[in-house]
Amino acid sequence: MDCQIEKNKARCPCTYEPCSRKGKCCECILYHKEYGELPACLFPPEVEKSYDRSIGRFVKTFAVKVKESEQE
Ligand code: SF4
Repeated sequence: MDCQIEKNKARCPCTYEPCSRKGKCCECILYHKEYGELPACLFPPEVEKSYDRSIGRFVKTFAVKVKESEQE
């Protein structure tokens, strides 16, 4: 399987510029994993732009979203 870097770059929602890992999802995931974080594409845009990529922020974000969806 060929590397899909150009396709990945086109759909990468990360707003952090510049980043040499953009489009290289394998490097992106490893980099954030080392810091106990997750990649930008797993966060909704309003959280992504805070650059807080911690697992704690991810859990809090989706705990709120789950609660909201249960109340609908
Ligand atoms: S999520 Fe992190 S590693 Fe991935 S492209 Fe954005 S800044 Fe770079």
